[in-house]
Amino acid sequence: MDHLTVSFFLTRRCTSRCRHCGAWYAKSADYDFTQANLGRFIADVAKTPGIQAVGFSGGEVFVVKDVFDFAVDEARRLGLPFTFVTNASWAKTGAIARERLSRYVGTLGMGLSADSFHQEFIPVDRVVNAAKAAESLGIPYLVRATMRTSDSRAEIEKGLVAAGLPDPKRIAYAPVMYLGQAREKIDPSDFPDENPYAACLSLRTPFIFPNGDVYACCGEAGEIEGKHPLFLGNLNEARLADLVKKYETDPTLVAIYSEGPRALWDKTGRRPETMRDELLLRSPCGTCRLLFE
Ligand code: SF4
Ligand code: SF4
Repeated sequence: MDHLTVSFFLTRRCTSRCRHCGAWYAKSADYDFTQANLGRFIADVAKTPGIQAVGFSGGEVFVVKDVFDFAVDEARRLGLPFTFVTNASWAKTGAIARERLSRYVGTLGMGLSADSFHQEFIPVDRVVNAAKAAESLGIPYLVRATMRTSDSRAEIEKGLVAAGLPDPKRIAYAPVMYLGQAREKIDPSDFPDENPYAACLSLRTPFIFPNGDVYACCGEAGEIEGKHPLFLGNLNEARLADLVKKYETDPTLVAIYSEGPRALWDKTGRRPETMRDELLLRSPCGTCRLLFE
């Protein structure tokens, strides 16, 4: 649990409208990072002890390519290893994919996605083009496959290999969660019940929004309104080095990364009262929403 990877939520805009998306996408640039804020906040990250890498996500980072490239250049200048996530919708051919990704050689890793939700908008061959280009450039990558109850890993792997994915060991599987767009656009029976009594390994990944708000983990934490334990503070008012001290001192955060949200929920002695509560309880991040909203 020592890792501290800081994520920047560069934009809410995206080329796709996936039904399972955890972000509430925006059409306008109102929720994009500006270069000025990004430069200031990355400099703050570089001064924070223990930071191992910075990650850039959205939305789709290539919708704000100038801002994304600025972020990558700043990270390189300050000696911060970086990762990024893209939906690969731009990778129309292998040549286009290779040309675009060559700018990011040296990244710690690239995240892609391929599953039935993404494939409603993004042909799988674009993900394959990006994966092949990454392999040829020596860029580490993972392909995240989000699964509904009826999906099987074997079938997903078979489909991706048939489409040309070079290495099936690069597929990471995750259940679809009752969060974000999924709450309105996915049938309740599609949400698997996978909420183990386990520490959350995604905590200690400060997530920074364009207005400077810092949350303790993923985008879902930022969607829970008000001041709650997953809200660490704002970079316009405090240094990141001071905000991340809460991982050690806030008893709720300590409980989440030692016992996990499911165990914390049990300690409340409450029962889910509605179908919505039951669906939230099927995943760790949903349980955090139930605990903190
Ligand atoms: S899941 Fe990814 S690709 Fe799909 S709408 Fe959300 S940000 Fe875009
Ligand atoms: S389970 Fe909770 S603490 Fe972990 S990433 Fe999800 S919202 Fe954050």
